[in-house]
Amino acid sequence: MVYISTRGGASAGAAEAVLRGIAADGGLFVDPMLAQEPFDWQHCLTLDALGIQTMLLKHLLPDIDGMDGLCRRAYDGKFETDELTPLVRVGEDYVLELFRGPTSAFKDVALSMLPQLVTAARTQRGERGECVVLTATSGDTGKAALEGFHDVPGTRIFVFYPHGGVSAIQRAQMVTQEGKNVTVCAVRGNFDDCQTGVKKAFAALAGDEELLCRGLSLSSANSINIGRLAPQLGYYFIAYAALLREGRIALGDKVDYVVPTGNFGDILAGWMAKRLGLPVGRLVCASNANRVLTDFFETGVYDRRRDFYRTDSPSMDILVSSNLERLLFYVSDGDCALVRSCMEQLAREGFYRFPEELMEKLRAEFSAYCCTDAEGAETIGALWREEGYLCDPHTAVAVRAAQDYRRERPGDVPLVILSTASPYKFPGAVLGAIGGRAEGDEYAQMDALASLTGVPVPRRLAALREKDVLHRDVIGIDEMIPYIKTKLSEALS
Ligand SMILES: *Cc1c(COP(=O)(O)O)cnc(C)c1O
Repeated sequence: MVYISTRGGASAGAAEAVLRGIAADGGLFVDPMLAQEPFDWQHCLTLDALGIQTMLLKHLLPDIDGMDGLCRRAYDGKFETDELTPLVRVGEDYVLELFRGPTSAFKDVALSMLPQLVTAARTQRGERGECVVLTATSGDTGKAALEGFHDVPGTRIFVFYPHGGVSAIQRAQMVTQEGKNVTVCAVRGNFDDCQTGVKKAFAALAGDEELLCRGLSLSSANSINIGRLAPQLGYYFIAYAALLREGRIALGDKVDYVVPTGNFGDILAGWMAKRLGLPVGRLVCASNANRVLTDFFETGVYDRRRDFYRTDSPSMDILVSSNLERLLFYVSDGDCALVRSCMEQLAREGFYRFPEELMEKLRAEFSAYCCTDAEGAETIGALWREEGYLCDPHTAVAVRAAQDYRRERPGDVPLVILSTASPYKFPGAVLGAIGGRAEGDEYAQMDALASLTGVPVPRRLAALREKDVLHRDVIGIDEMIPYIKTKLSEALS
């Protein structure tokens, strides 16, 4: 199998694609034959969660050896349940809890795996120098990546997060991270600035003589990395298998999935699962007040020239959803020239218009909705009162979208709502939404939320308050590249 760049200027095997993260021409690696290679999806559904992950990763990343062992090391004992992502019935619908991993965010599903893939790929390709993993985070990727990569031999990890743009708990999770190979730094800007900075750093450092001499290579823990995206197909299968076991559906019945969306990685994984044969019905893209994707599906114009809002669902505060580029590639049957010109126009002018006939193809598979913080809070409150289910502000955006979707398209296709974070990562917002008083610091709020609801606090979040702050750097957007260089020289000298 050969991965190629969405912009047509590069190709690589799966192992190399995982190590490079992003293609040299700025595009993202995709498997152009995704829908053509035979995949026994029916057999996949008979396996347990670990088996599903293993089978999918062998298929998607065929030239990485020893996948059984890699998957076992990634997941065994790290999640709260062996199902990895339990499916919970809530009213008429289902919530797929993706946040039962070590950092209480859905990013754990992929970032528990990625270090295993990187390490295996390095060994296989005989790369001896360190692999430097550059990561931009809107809150959750950072901690999940730190958790996965800290003290992994042969790797070094940098995490950049927006200063003041993540929740207090998310920040505490990152700035208390231990490990000899980790750097955590706040950037005066938003997530898009961090992400753009990382992409620029790739371009600037890829040809850096000094780094090359020391044998360093760069990779990414963001969902632009195919090694980050590939492990995310699994839970679409895991949910479907659970519905089959429960007798809610028969094999082949369609299931709709509602996905709280930021960078478009999570929902794209669902679309890829469908391409492998899984009977996915519609994919519902749920956004917060940063409704750039809702507008895109409606109008065909992707336009980031708009106000950026800091919301109660910070991990979705994104105006440039990188993984949409992969979808544009696939839906245009691999028209790299079209993708390249759209992405260049986006970088240059801040918008592009996607051809209407292709938009129609997208609208046949996707629906899109958005809601405000106030609507999200109302949803958290109503869900708690009516169903006794406590959800976080990101999940609330999806629950709200599910309601809008049901109203617009009534039917009895089961709806699976992806839940992406523990409510305890955002205790103030959740407490306020269910009628509690959000007083004191975030730890006091966690306690208050627990005593009001009886929902247990994840052990590792509760333990944060005892930990020392180890990372205090704050830099400007333009300082990212010199900062990385300085830190690398320090580490290597
Ligand atoms: C990252 C994240 C999302 C968005 O996922 P994408 O793959 O970026 O679309 C949603 N909710 C939470 C809690 C997240 O951490």
